[in-house]
Amino acid sequence: MIRRPPRSTPKPSSAASDVYKRQALHYGTGVFEGIRGNWNEEKGVVNIFRLREHYDRLLRGCRLLMLDIPYTADQLCEITIELVERNAHQHDIYIRPLAYKSAELVANLKLQDLESDFTLITVPFGNYLGSDTLRCCTSSWRRVDDPMIPARLKISGIYVNSILAKTEATLSGFDEAIILNHDGHVCEGSGENIFVIADGRIITPSLEDNVLPGITRDTVIQLAQSELGLSLVERTIDRSELYLADEVLLSGTAAHLTPVIELDNRPIGDGKPGPISTKLQEMYFDIVVGRNPKYMHWCTAVSYTNLRAHETEADLVCRRLLEKKKGGGGG
Ligand code: PMP
Repeated sequence: MIRRPPRSTPKPSSAASDVYKRQALHYGTGVFEGIRGNWNEEKGVVNIFRLREHYDRLLRGCRLLMLDIPYTADQLCEITIELVERNAHQHDIYIRPLAYKSAELVANLKLQDLESDFTLITVPFGNYLGSDTLRCCTSSWRRVDDPMIPARLKISGIYVNSILAKTEATLSGFDEAIILNHDGHVCEGSGENIFVIADGRIITPSLEDNVLPGITRDTVIQLAQSELGLSLVERTIDRSELYLADEVLLSGTAAHLTPVIELDNRPIGDGKPGPISTKLQEMYFDIVVGRNPKYMHWCTAVSYTNLRAHETEADLVCRRLLEKKKGGGGG
């Protein structure tokens, strides 16, 4: 974890008070990102996907929540590359930056009074949804509306909305929830954008329908138009259009591109991943691991050979322990 000091020096405090007195823990006053690093075994690199775009979105959220973190998007990218190098991952990873109100002022609701901090962690990460095809339900929870809390930013507190929907769906035996917005139109999954494919066209809700401007959503839009020549429409989608679609596809950093094969116990199309979803998925998986030269500008390759240059003594000890374990040394 990299935890850089905030601009103003915080008061001395114990590790425990750090956590439980912090304003963000009480009120969700943070913005975060979920970024994937995809391990390419052949080349021995972790490819971080669309790193800069994630930090542009994080900084937009910082503006709204008055999170004063002293870094530009370029500096945040540099810090991230350094951490990935230091952690020497040789598997897929999830990168989680968080900018948050760190002030130990729990009964203060004025953003302008509260200092901010930034943390960054990387963790190993595999299949997020637990399945390659999804059975979904329509959530009884509605998406937050822009005049309440803007859904177009990744604000920590908003995620209670997603968590309620995801919990309801999974406790009822589904893989994921499809959330409608305040007027009953299709919005998104709990952590994914949604695409409807019907009559050879690909349709996705417009940003004004309270969806997150997903980076994977933008990837799908570009690939569908420029690689598959599909006409793409961003517009309000009725709930019934989902049941009648040929294909439905969810997109997200954690979720990748995953076809929905069933909604509310009704099959979508013939109940199998459709041809357009499959083509998009194949292209996307090649791109994110850095196998498509045309889209290498979306990948930041962190090479395993560089990793050693940054290695501290502690990292080295960890690595040796891991190598011993791998070699059957039993730790
Ligand atoms: N919608 C929501 C609510 C999300 O949490 C996510 C995940 N960040 C997405 C959509 C997909 O966004 P992205 O493709 O940028 O990960």
